[in-house]
Amino acid sequence: MTTIIDGKQVAATVIEAVKAAAGKLEQDAGVKTGLAVIIVGDDPASHAYVSSKSRMAKECGFTSVQHTLPEETSQEELAALVQKLNADDAIHGILVQLPLPKHLRSEPIIQSILPEKDVDGLHVVNAGKVATGDLEGGLISCTPAGAMVLVRGIHGEDLSGLNAVVIGRSNLFGKPMAALLLNANATVTSAHSRTKDLAAVCRNADILVAAVGRPQMVKADWVKPGATVIDVGINRVPAPEKGEGKSRLVGDVAFDECAEVAGAITPVPGGVGPMTIAMLMANTVIAAYRRAGRKAPKF
Ligand code: NAP
Repeated sequence: MTTIIDGKQVAATVIEAVKAAAGKLEQDAGVKTGLAVIIVGDDPASHAYVSSKSRMAKECGFTSVQHTLPEETSQEELAALVQKLNADDAIHGILVQLPLPKHLRSEPIIQSILPEKDVDGLHVVNAGKVATGDLEGGLISCTPAGAMVLVRGIHGEDLSGLNAVVIGRSNLFGKPMAALLLNANATVTSAHSRTKDLAAVCRNADILVAAVGRPQMVKADWVKPGATVIDVGINRVPAPEKGEGKSRLVGDVAFDECAEVAGAITPVPGGVGPMTIAMLMANTVIAAYRRAGRKAPKF
């Protein structure tokens, strides 16, 4: 029987633990966890993401501050807001919703966030800590952190003896995911667009992670029988069966056929997606504990 990994349920468990940790910090140290989210421009998808993050922060008992800036905001204005939030003691986490409008450069903005407030885990200091195996000192990028929670749910903490293949080598996901798997003692292969015979590489994986952005690219004959398949891809495809002009979300894995071969598999939606926001909340409360000089909880 294949296990369909219920990311929504695992995320809900993480959120409950975050709520409890935030409540304890407030009670014991009088510190209310604070998250600031910055959004620039009118992109509807970004606005939807930001509102769900702000809503979840409130649900966790955080102070949640949303800065909605107009499309024409300048690089200097955005940088000044980040500096202000860096200096604000009530704010423990700062998130700048990406992508930014085209005239703004995101990299200098992300790198100007204090690493200890970089709850997205995108600052080079945090990326470097993950790369060097210092998982206690920094903040881990939310989607790979969430995907690892799902992997641990199936295989436990120690992945010794297991082969892991990560398809995709982005800084946002593929590279930190490979580093986290390696740190848990898996034998890791990073595959990408230049990999030769990708299907054969994938068939060697006990843990197969796909983060490419190509709808249903991973087929059943790429999956080793009994493997754990983690699908990070989010792709919108036409769904004429739902009506004219309708669409639906699919992952990078052909779910139905791969579910017949895999031992465990994440669906899209409802797999890795809900974990990302849960780990953002976890990172924020971790940042607040550290700022208060207390040992941060583990999630
Ligand atoms: P990205 O920066 O576009 O990276 C895509 C990676 O896939 C690249 O490393 C690329 O290789 C590789 N690739 C492209 N075509 C390939 C092919 N035919 N065979 C093998 N590898 C190929 O994307 P990303 O930011 O990592 O995101 C990947 C997917 O995950 C997207 O669908 C995104 O929406 C989704 N995502 C989901 C969440 C979530 O919360 N669930 C979070 C982040 C991302 P090269 O490096 O050689 O070009």
